[in-house]
Amino acid sequence: MPTYARADVVFERGEGPYLYATDGRRFLDFAAGVAVTAFGHAHPYLIKALTDQAHKVWHTSNLFRVAGQESLAKRLTELTFADTVFFTNSGAEAWECGAKLVRKYHYETGNPQKTRIITFEQAFHGRTLGSISAAKQDKLVKGFGPLLDGFDQVAFGNLNELRNAITPETGGICVEPIQGEGGIRTGSVEFLRGLREVCDEFGLLLFFDEIQSGMGRTGKLFAHEWAGITPDVMAVAKGIGGGFPLGACLATERAASGMTAGTHGSTYGGNPLATAVGNAVLDLVTAPGFLDGVQRIAGTLQGRLEALIAKHPGFFLELRGQGLLLGLRVAPPVGDVVATLRANGLLAVPAGDNVVRLLPPLIIEDQQVEEAVAILDQTAGEWTA
Ligand SMILES: *Cc1c(COP(=O)(O)O)cnc(C)c1O
Repeated sequence: MPTYARADVVFERGEGPYLYATDGRRFLDFAAGVAVTAFGHAHPYLIKALTDQAHKVWHTSNLFRVAGQESLAKRLTELTFADTVFFTNSGAEAWECGAKLVRKYHYETGNPQKTRIITFEQAFHGRTLGSISAAKQDKLVKGFGPLLDGFDQVAFGNLNELRNAITPETGGICVEPIQGEGGIRTGSVEFLRGLREVCDEFGLLLFFDEIQSGMGRTGKLFAHEWAGITPDVMAVAKGIGGGFPLGACLATERAASGMTAGTHGSTYGGNPLATAVGNAVLDLVTAPGFLDGVQRIAGTLQGRLEALIAKHPGFFLELRGQGLLLGLRVAPPVGDVVATLRANGLLAVPAGDNVVRLLPPLIIEDQQVEEAVAILDQTAGEWTA
């Protein structure tokens, strides 16, 4: 179905942060499949993990124990607030698990009326009926009604409005610590801490969507770590599989107490191939010094982008984001800017609010920062010439 406005380019192979098209052109990939290929393309360690597993067993279903799934779950719980994990194939499914979990928790703990979840303006949680009902954005929901009831929306960052929206039916609050599709808006530390306090005060579950911001993208394993607080539930996907479809819903034992045998499921979720790659990705993200390196290169890139804004103030308007989850708000229409960047050899992703998203693989080095900045500089220069 023609649901995508695709760029007319076909990639034949990739190598680290570069993609090579069938017509011979080389691109610096600061799209990374929308924050997915965190270790670039054709990483030897990930290829080995996938192909080794491919020679053993691909799929057995969740009727049986899956060794790679058990080890990945154990490692994720050791590294995070979570005690338990449900695996999926995509972000939207990880988010759906979280939304269902919120309702089930209150149902099982004597508050079956607490079915509603508060979400935020410009949110993005996926394209299922549930997740578009939660995000409530015109471009996502138009023509797809009736939407699922049970979501109330307030302004991102506004704790007063949030408190006023809480009713006896509210069961949870769902937020992206850094809004991705909505235009790389960073929730402040005070805002995220405020959400934790409100949830504790009213007995609500705090549900983070870290599908885009997680798995090292901000220089911590998860973006909420910067705020020093933890959620009760968290949806993860994108970077967790490095390009292999994999998602996960992480939760505390308490929050997940209603998710008992038979209540939820997925045929493919956490299958041997996906979790073999997921374990290998986790090896790379948690390697000593790796996240420090992400913070260092992110600092370099951010500094260079600030200098570009100073050089082309009528073209680049503002730098947003954290770590390597970055957005440049631009003056011309973002689609045109992204197309020109691509023509000049740099892949980027448009986002809401006329923002060019820069989501390089986490393995970039100074050389790629210089190349990207040169292309951004050239593009701004051409535009204003
Ligand atoms: C990409 C994304 C999703 C949806 O993930 P899919 O794998 O496309 O279903 C949900 N939430 C956020 C924050 C995302 O960035």
